[in-house]
Parts: sequence; C-alpha cells; structure tokens
Amino acid sequence: MRYEGDIYSPHIAGDDYVLQCTIGCSHNQCTFCYMYKNKQYRVRALPEILTDINLAKAAYGDVKKVFLADGDAISMPAKDLLTILDYLYASFPGLSYVGTYASAGSVLNKSPAELRDLQQHGLTEAHLGVESGDEQILYAIRKGVSYAQMVQAGRLLKQADIHLFVTAILGLAGKPDKSVDHAKHTARICNEIQPDYLGLLTILVQAGTPIYKQVQAGGFIVPDDPAILAEMRLLLQGLELEHCGFTSIHPSNCISLEGWLPEDKDRLLQTLADIIDNRDWSRLRRRATEKV
Ligand code: SF4
Repeated sequence: MRYEGDIYSPHIAGDDYVLQCTIGCSHNQCTFCYMYKNKQYRVRALPEILTDINLAKAAYGDVKKVFLADGDAISMPAKDLLTILDYLYASFPGLSYVGTYASAGSVLNKSPAELRDLQQHGLTEAHLGVESGDEQILYAIRKGVSYAQMVQAGRLLKQADIHLFVTAILGLAGKPDKSVDHAKHTARICNEIQPDYLGLLTILVQAGTPIYKQVQAGGFIVPDDPAILAEMRLLLQGLELEHCGFTSIHPSNCISLEGWLPEDKDRLLQTLADIIDNRDWSRLRRRATEKV
C-alpha cells in the first residue's frame, strides 16, 4: 500500500486496513504528541485516495475493518469523506467498521447534520483524545480546546450515533501536586461525555516533542509507577459511566486492566487496591519508553 511517513492507528485497531486520507494532523500542537511532528498537514487528493482503495481491494480482497489515517481524518470536507465511505462500502461488501481519529477542533467544525450524514454513510467509530479534564492541563498541553469545547465535541459525536472511543493520559499533570486534579477532573469530563469506550494511556516522553524539552528543563515531572497507579485509582473511583468499555491495555501502561463500567468497577478497583495497598509492584510490567 502507498503510505507517506509513519502510520499510526489505535492499538485496538491493529489489524485494520489503514487508509491514509490526510497527511499529519490539522492541529499538530499537542506538547506530548510525537506522531506527526515531521509532517506538514494536508488533505490528500480524492482520486489518490480512491486509487488506494482499488489497490487495497486488489491486494486484500474483502476487508472488514478500515481505519482512516492520519491523525485527524475527520478534518476533511464532509462531502469528500462521504465519497470515501461510499466507495469503501461499495468496494468491500464485508465491511462493518470504519474508524477515524477525531480532534475536538475538527469535530466542532462539522455541523450536527454533517456528522449524522457521516454516520449514516458508515463512519462507525471516532477516537477522541480528551487527554485530561483539567482546564489548566488542557491549556498547558496545547490541546487547542477548552473543557467545555471538549465536552461539546464528544457529545456531538455521541448525538450522531458515532461510537465514541475516548482516550485520557495518565501522568499528564507534570507536577505531583496536580495529579489529584487531573484524575478527578478527567473522571468528571468522562462522566459528562459518557463515551462508549474509555482507554487510558500513560505519558510517553519522546525526543523532539515540547514536553521532552520541559522534562529536560525540570518543568515537567514524569510520575513513577506507584504515582500512576494512584492516579488511575482516583480516576476510576470518580467514573460514573452508564455503559462504557474500559481498557488500560496499551504498552505505555504499567498494568493492563479491562472491563465494563459500571459492572466491573469494584473488581478493577480491587485489583488496584491489592497492588497499591500491599505495595506489590512485582505485578507491574515495564512501561514502553519508545514510540508505540
Ligand atoms: S490532536 Fe491528536 S494527533 Fe493532533 S497533535 Fe494532538 S494528540 Fe497529536
């Protein structure tokens, strides 16, 4: 397949066919994000994208799942996305999933009717990086939106019936005394959005990112595993989700937990309590320190 630069898709969608619709990220400002720093954002020409679909059909036959890359494919004009979705479903009769990353700013640039159209033409899932519910942290990491705008973006996707996968990042506070606020406010924003799925990651500091420079200068402190676990526990305690998948299965995390909320909340908290209260760090695994 034809790809420009490094390609990322959610860990959970690792076996999908990835179709590059945009190059880079339309925002590309988040201080922790290493994925597209060396790419100049642009929307690929529609004929190129449709040709890629033809190439994928010739190479793979039918595919069931497609992920639209790069960082923020929902930033494309809605009419082009509709053309791509229609072409994908016409090309792959077994297709049942089309997902995309969706930055909050790009979601807010779409009307509710456009988002609904995208859903009706088969955009099944959006991955929204909420990262934190703390207003100061959102500002510090240059997320580009406020707490209220993030909530609005999440709710717009939900109202359009697009399955909403939200991610938040543990350890993003940068200072030990901000960890409690980060955890509590992140739980609060998740409660307001009510995502269908919540994935927790842990901050990964990569060379070349603004946050790397902050770490070098002593302005950002990366928490150790016990502090990350305490933050995870506080966040989980604060979640009041009506029906939401939960996962911390990601190489950046020191522990892999999975379940459904609210049903599995007590079990998940008990697992964390067993480790934290007994200081049983042997049950943790080494966090990834490289790009994942
Ligand atoms: S919006 Fe997402 S892809 Fe873009 S810079 Fe931020 S974290 Fe990275």
